[in-house]
Amino acid sequence: MLRQLSWASMNQSRLQSLDDIPDVARRAERQKFLNRWYKPVAIAPFFVLLVLDEFFFPQSRSPLLLAVAFLTLGWGGAVAAYALFLLLSLRCPRCGARYGLGDKCKHCELPRHPNSGDQLVTL
Ligand SMILES: [Zn+2]
Repeated sequence: MLRQLSWASMNQSRLQSLDDIPDVARRAERQKFLNRWYKPVAIAPFFVLLVLDEFFFPQSRSPLLLAVAFLTLGWGGAVAAYALFLLLSLRCPRCGARYGLGDKCKHCELPRHPNSGDQLVTL
């Protein structure tokens, strides 16, 4: 974080978007992906386990199956927690405020991508 901010402060005048700083761009892409897909990513292993359990072990009362079910639920909690962490920890390299989920910083309007601030209308 400190390294990113100091790098950004040196090049602040040339900073056009989050894509100009590769570390921040990667985190921003991960944040955007998880914000959109965290529910399926989090719940998919549990759903697959339910389907497999129903087809292959319908009468099973195995503690191993229960342990795997708790592991999949733990996975879901970890994915949701990581998505929240990315949401809260992604800072704008220009102003240092929390970046948020939009295509621009709410405080200084630094765009995520070089063209994301443009409103191109093609008919
Ligand atoms: Zn900003």
